[in-house]
Amino acid sequence: MRIGHGYDSHRFAAGRKLILGGVEIPHEQGLDGHSDADAVAHAVTDALLGAAGLGDIGRHFPPTDAAWKDADSLQLLAKVVRLLEGRNYQVVNVDVTVVAEAPKIGPHADAMSAKLAGVLGISPGHVSVKGKSNEGMGWIGRGEGVAAFAVALIDDMEAVDDLHARHRRDAGA
Ligand code: MG
Repeated sequence: MRIGHGYDSHRFAAGRKLILGGVEIPHEQGLDGHSDADAVAHAVTDALLGAAGLGDIGRHFPPTDAAWKDADSLQLLAKVVRLLEGRNYQVVNVDVTVVAEAPKIGPHADAMSAKLAGVLGISPGHVSVKGKSNEGMGWIGRGEGVAAFAVALIDDMEAVDDLHARHRRDAGA
């Protein structure tokens, strides 16, 4: 098994939709960014790429590339899941912490889990989404933006196959 960590942050901006974990959340401001600025999806994507040792989201989807302008970040996440599958990695579980002073994340956490789980091809019970405020401190506390942290565990299926083969050999089968 391999573990990866991802972090992302985006600044609030007027006239944008607030999309986190693929869920549109009613709020007076959205997040600024080249894509849909879904910090949760970006943190999860980076956690998966990190677990697989495949760099980061900026390497695979450069913000200078017009193709990703206003992109649906769940589609970028789906591309990374395909990339991992192509290398025989299977996502096991993901845990996300979203830090925002407002809006409250808790009421939307289950919807985000369900959306992310659908893309990751695992059950919502294996995708945890938790919300925290920053207790009024710093840039998050002043409501300037949102941060998201994610960890992801992936299984190296080739290594699992090798292990099973070795067990069969050891058992004399
Ligand atoms: Mg981002």
